[in-house]
Amino acid sequence: MKSLADTDEIKSRLDVVEIVSERVQLQRAGRNYKANCPFHNEKTPSFIVDPSRQSWRCFGQCASGGDVFSFIMKIDGLEFGDALRMLAQRAGVEVTFKEDTPDRDDFFAINGVALKFYMEALLSDEGISARNYLDQRGLGDNIRQKFGIGYSPKGKSSLKAHLAFHDIDLDKAVECGLLNRTGDGTTRDFFWGRLMFPIHNRTGQVAGFGARSLDDSMPKYINTSATPIFDKSRILYGFHIARDAIRKADEGVIVEGYMDVIAAHEHGYENVVASMGTAVTTEQVRQLRNLAASYVLALDQDEAGQEATLRSLESSWRIFNESTRGKSDPLFSAGPIKLKVLSLPEGKDPDEFIRSGNGEWEKVVASAAHVIDYLIPVVAGRFDVRSPGGKGMVVNALAPLFRSMDPFDMEDYLNKLANELESTPEVVRAALQSAPRPKANARNPKGNDRFRASADGLSPDSKINEATNDTKLDEYALSLIFGKPGLRFIASKISSEYFRRPEDRELFTLWESGGAVLEDEFTNALDPLLKDRYDFISSLELVPATDREAETDLEVCLKRLERRLLHEHRDSLISAQESGHPPSSELQDSLTKLDRKIRETYETVETPTRTT
Ligand SMILES: [Zn+2]
Repeated sequence: MKSLADTDEIKSRLDVVEIVSERVQLQRAGRNYKANCPFHNEKTPSFIVDPSRQSWRCFGQCASGGDVFSFIMKIDGLEFGDALRMLAQRAGVEVTFKEDTPDRDDFFAINGVALKFYMEALLSDEGISARNYLDQRGLGDNIRQKFGIGYSPKGKSSLKAHLAFHDIDLDKAVECGLLNRTGDGTTRDFFWGRLMFPIHNRTGQVAGFGARSLDDSMPKYINTSATPIFDKSRILYGFHIARDAIRKADEGVIVEGYMDVIAAHEHGYENVVASMGTAVTTEQVRQLRNLAASYVLALDQDEAGQEATLRSLESSWRIFNESTRGKSDPLFSAGPIKLKVLSLPEGKDPDEFIRSGNGEWEKVVASAAHVIDYLIPVVAGRFDVRSPGGKGMVVNALAPLFRSMDPFDMEDYLNKLANELESTPEVVRAALQSAPRPKANARNPKGNDRFRASADGLSPDSKINEATNDTKLDEYALSLIFGKPGLRFIASKISSEYFRRPEDRELFTLWESGGAVLEDEFTNALDPLLKDRYDFISSLELVPATDREAETDLEVCLKRLERRLLHEHRDSLISAQESGHPPSSELQDSLTKLDRKIRETYETVETPTRTT
């Protein structure tokens, strides 16, 4: 099992205390270390690093934790593959990655040469039209440097000549999207006579370029087409510059265009990124979700923009729900993420508000509507509410959002929806309750033995009894989850933290957020290391013969995984206390809550007398 060896090897060579202490000031606390949590604001430290377990956890508002991988992912806003790459390098462990083609580094290097070329051309005689445009927009030298703004000369072979002079393989420059091949097989510059914006990936490498015309030539904006290193749907423009500001403001603003981002940063609003002119994708949202508690979508509100906003909300809702799941339970709550929509008057773009000064931009951002306030009229406007069944369709479309809402908030929105539909709150409530849902709730109340297949709650052939230590339990649970798509409704209630291994957590998170994608589609997108692990888990023999038995086994497994996690939390809390001091009331509070939760894991599926 190569994948197991890899992450184990990396973790064994790194010390979580050392890595965390580079970013956070730690102080000793008993056998552990404590600090003010770097992921939320607090005055008394509730962030604990446990060297014996090589783990960290925030026992305060975030109520999340993990190992060195999840710490780096969270604090740097990295995806699993990037965190792995960074930590592997640091640990001196070699791992292979999906994206590691031999040409990858070459492509970034070629883009780097092009970036310098365009930036110098901006200062040349021919660059005057571009400089005039930037002057008009009030964008000074500092911001031009910061965003690497440049100009592509009109010669149509200026960049080509420059690349050739630097001995660069022109075929690779074609693959990068910098040159294109004409009908007769010769190559020429892809961008010419345009203002150039380098587009950086999360780690700050130049992955591609966007370009704006400086005259009437159409289209006004073009960008690099898909290349091995440039995938528009995975990149947020300005992310590498805005990341720290988003974290600090605890809010990120997503706009549509490059110019909006640059203008915002020029005027000191540094928490602004752009979706690259399309709807926000799940990959883009995933990059943002760890950084802040609140996001504002500020897309155009013409018809195309409204469509993009709706699609963006779908992606966002799916991802943010991963983080807010179980929000009724403070121990597992990651804190609700607020999603707001900014409706600018038609024909106005963010740029105008940003540049007008007088705090106009702050005002419009602060006035952004809660996602439901935005959606009620928009969704109602998309159905014919006067036709038979029309109102029902509106209710069905909004039902998932209502279900995930705080009950007190719901009251308010029920009234709004009723008004919009010219109905009463009672009728709307009844319609919401009968709106179709994917599958019934699996958390059955006490005393209901719907999930008991046999006296001890296990199916007769269950593998659970032998799967008690190490990660066998994790593997069995995951093999059921991956192997039985019908059990998704159970799996969707748990946290990825239930699993011990970083790659298992990542696989679960990806699988869970992917919706009902085809298996091929899911596995093709995985890094080889994750794919190895997925293949291994999928190859485990699924013993339960019936879906019902599988369901019972999964319920039992998940209870045990939850219990294991809760016990680990308990140990970390206790060992963070100075010996000889009486426990604080906060500690006692937390322990009481944990003990209650631990007791609950024995209920419903297993009997309380059962021991593991
Ligand atoms: Zn925290």
